Amino acid sequence: MRDNLVVAKPIYEIVRKLQDGGFAAYIVGGAIRDLMLGREPKDYDISTSATPEEIRTVFGRRQARIIGKRFRLVHVRCGHEIVEISTFRRNPDDTGQIAGKHKQQAVPENMIFRDNDFGTAEEDAWRRDFTVNALFYDPVHDDLIDYTGCGIDDMHAGVVRVVGEAELRFEEDPVRILRALKLVGQYGFTFEAKTELAVRAHGDLILHAAASRLSLEMEKILKNAYCDGIFNAFHDYGFLQYCLPYLEANWNSPARTYAMQLLAERNSHVLEGRYRNSISLAMAVIALPFVEAEIGLGQHGKLWKKNHRSGADIRRIVSDVFQPHNMIKRLAMSAQNILSSQPDFFNPEKKRSTLLHSSGYGHAREVLMLQNAVLWHDDKLTSTWPRPMPSKRRHSHSNHKRPKKRKVQHKNEK
Ligand code: ATP
Ligand code: MG
Repeated sequence: MRDNLVVAKPIYEIVRKLQDGGFAAYIVGGAIRDLMLGREPKDYDISTSATPEEIRTVFGRRQARIIGKRFRLVHVRCGHEIVEISTFRRNPDDTGQIAGKHKQQAVPENMIFRDNDFGTAEEDAWRRDFTVNALFYDPVHDDLIDYTGCGIDDMHAGVVRVVGEAELRFEEDPVRILRALKLVGQYGFTFEAKTELAVRAHGDLILHAAASRLSLEMEKILKNAYCDGIFNAFHDYGFLQYCLPYLEANWNSPARTYAMQLLAERNSHVLEGRYRNSISLAMAVIALPFVEAEIGLGQHGKLWKKNHRSGADIRRIVSDVFQPHNMIKRLAMSAQNILSSQPDFFNPEKKRSTLLHSSGYGHAREVLMLQNAVLWHDDKLTSTWPRPMPSKRRHSHSNHKRPKKRKVQHKNEK
C-alpha cells in the first residue's frame, strides 16, 4: 500500500486552480483507491465546494462545460482527457418522486430518484457508497481525509464496507450492489459482514434499476481490464443471474470456461498496453465460445463454417449473451463483425489482401491472436497475419471530412 500518492500533474493543476479561486477541492473516488494500491488511475474524479457555474468561471467557457440534468457536473478539458468535477452534495432529505421507466415489481420505498442538493465536503463523504470510496485527497497540501473514519483502515485491509446501513443504502440505489461486487472482483477485496449479508440477500433489487443505467454499468465493466474477476465475483455472490442471466445459466459449460480464459487473456493484453480496452472486443471474446458451441464444427477452437445463416445466428447469440442489456447497436454490430470474420482467416478462398485491408482487420486479428494464445499456440499465425499499419487518418490533422461511419465514436470506446 502506498502512502505517498503521486498525482498526474494536470490533475494537480486543476485542484490548485480551484483552491486558488478560493474553493475547497479534492481528488475523490476510484483514483484514490488506485493510487493507494500503486495502480495507474484510469481517470480522476474531482469534488469541490464550487458550484458548476463557479467551476466554469475558474476554467473559462472554452475549457469547461456543464453537463447532466439530474446531476450537474462540469467536464474540464485537460489535454486530450476530460476530467469530471462535481460539487459537494449531501444525501437528499426525502427520496423524491419516481422518474424513468421501471420494472413491474413494487419499487423499494427508500429508492432515491433525486440526488442533487449541494452540501459540505463532509456531507459529500457520507453520501458516498463505500468507505474506500469516501476518501478525499488534497494533493496540494498532501492531505488524505477520512471523514467516515474507516476508509483508510478498510483500504489497508482490503474491505468493502457500506457507508451507513447496508440494506438501506442498497434500497436507495441498487446499483451500489453491483459497485460493491466490482470492488471485490477488481481488487480482490472482501466484504465486511453486514455488507456481505445485504449483497447476498438483496441482489434482486437490481431489477428495479433503470435499464439505461445498468447498460452503462455493463459497458464500464467490459472496458475494465479486471472484468473476468468482476464476473467471477458476480457469480460467487449470486448476482450474475440478474446481470447476465445467459452467462449464469451456462456457468458450468466448457464454453463459459473458454470465454473467461479468452477474457483474461484480453485483460492481460490491455494491462500490458498491447490492446485497447475495447468494449466490442470484450463482447466478441465472451460470445465466441457460445457461437462455436451452437454453430461450430464440434470443438472449441475449430470455429464454424460460414454460410448464409451464420450472420443471423451470430447476431442472435451475441444478443442472447448480453440480455437484458441493450448494448449500443454500434458495439453489438462491431462484435458481430469481429466474430463473422474469424473463419475467413482460415479460408484459402478468401483473398488475404482483402482481409488485411478490411476496416475491421485490427480487432478481428486481436481476437484471432487471443484464441491462439489460449488454445492453438501456432507461431506461424503471427507472421501470416501481421499487426495492421497505424491508421494515417487517425493521426491526420488535415481538414478532410471523415467518412460518415467513422464519425460516430462512442465516448466509452476510446
Ligand atoms: P471507477 O474506477 O470504476 O471509476 P469509481 O469509484 O471512481 O470507480 P465512479 O462511477 O467514477 O466510480 O464514481 C466516483 C465516486 O462517486 C465513487 O468512488 C463514489 O464515491 C461515488 N459514487 C458513485 N456512484 C455512487 C452511488 N451509486 N452511490 C453513492 N456514491 C457513489
Ligand atoms: Mg471514477
